[in-house]
Amino acid sequence: MLKHNRQYSVIAETHNFTQPLLVLIAKGCQFMKWFVFVTLSMFVQLVVGAEKIIHAGKMIDTINGKVREKVSIVIEGNKIAAIKEGYVQGAEIIDLKNATVMPGLMDMHTHLMNEMTAESYTEGFFHNESFFAIKAVANANKTLLAGFTTVRDLGGDPNVTVELRKAIDKGTVPGPRVFTAGKSIATTGGHADPTNGLNHELMKDPGPKEGVVNGVADAYKAVRQRYKEGADVIKLTVTGGVLSLAKSGENPQFTDDELDAIMAAAKDYGFVVAVHAHGAEGMKRAIKAGVHSVEHGTYMDKEAMSLMKKMGTYYVPTITAGKWVADKANTYPPIVQPKAKAVGPQIQKTFAKAIKRGVKIAFGTDAGVFPHGLNGREFKYMVEVGMSPMKSIQSATIETAKLLRINERLGSIEVGKLADIVAVEGDPLTQIELMESVSFVMKDGVVYKMP
Ligand SMILES: [Zn+2]
Repeated sequence: MLKHNRQYSVIAETHNFTQPLLVLIAKGCQFMKWFVFVTLSMFVQLVVGAEKIIHAGKMIDTINGKVREKVSIVIEGNKIAAIKEGYVQGAEIIDLKNATVMPGLMDMHTHLMNEMTAESYTEGFFHNESFFAIKAVANANKTLLAGFTTVRDLGGDPNVTVELRKAIDKGTVPGPRVFTAGKSIATTGGHADPTNGLNHELMKDPGPKEGVVNGVADAYKAVRQRYKEGADVIKLTVTGGVLSLAKSGENPQFTDDELDAIMAAAKDYGFVVAVHAHGAEGMKRAIKAGVHSVEHGTYMDKEAMSLMKKMGTYYVPTITAGKWVADKANTYPPIVQPKAKAVGPQIQKTFAKAIKRGVKIAFGTDAGVFPHGLNGREFKYMVEVGMSPMKSIQSATIETAKLLRINERLGSIEVGKLADIVAVEGDPLTQIELMESVSFVMKDGVVYKMP
């Protein structure tokens, strides 16, 4: 804001053409007041938006996995206009000479409207949708300020998450670019059946509209319903899950026919499909059906890994959530506790095996299971068991962009791409924990955080 005001006063001081107009204002002409205001603000916006230049001490080239030193990134409007050697001068300089600059980070697995606590299981009975919408706005802001300029939101109330995306896109509230699944799709009693564990009167029999399918026709309808509600991606829960009020965390929960129907419908409507999976059997059925990413992947075996390599399926590990639930296991309802204790520690071990076997990795944390804004912890957990820091950063930029099919406009700092740019002080390639304290955030050419 300071910078804008400063530029405004510079323009006002150096352009005498504004003076006759100011005289008219003094005469009290309402229309002229409006005219002058609009003209001046447009002029100011043009000048301010025209050019920002980032002086980057280091810049990560996510396409080639290399670091460039002492470069200037020229931003015009919301796009990267040029990348030049050395520190060139221009309208508005952003000094990141002591920092490492990289593309905006992307988290492929968040739940912006939720943040799990012991009370979360009953919150829905005491609060209205608006409560979750308000929380989602706060969580979106935390996520953006942590350096995540794009997220995939994998399961929530479309009345909240789709509207949140619209409000962010309009600039009403700050937040990352949101690709939302709306309501996750499950089968009866499956992980994302919203009535698991309730008394029989409340349990009722939810259907495709509520995200519960049984059979091929339901599967088609559930995907079409998500399309109608404005979802961007599809999320399935193909095995049991840790935090739902059900016994198994790993049983397979979709038939091959149901998965084929989902994938056929998703192809018709252009959806990327993500599947929550812990157990190997349900995972393998989904991979064979052609899903685009496996989330958590806890009990992924060698066969599943080979299938993923063959099919080009991404693995989104969510190690942070795994460690968090294992840590907090005793705070969950009794039916959840043994699952949290078993699944939590396993994810990081599975991830270590998957990278050795060359499975494609897309960064994702399951933020919402743990507090939003801590997404950057995942980098440390990935590097701890053998991934190189560079690969971990690529997994959260160019790889995630490929998974979301947005790599033509995002995922790297290249001329013509959208100006989603973040930075950390120092060198995260030698000290990966720095990824937990992003000091500079730009999204769509607008600065949200300055060191
Ligand atoms: Zn999740």
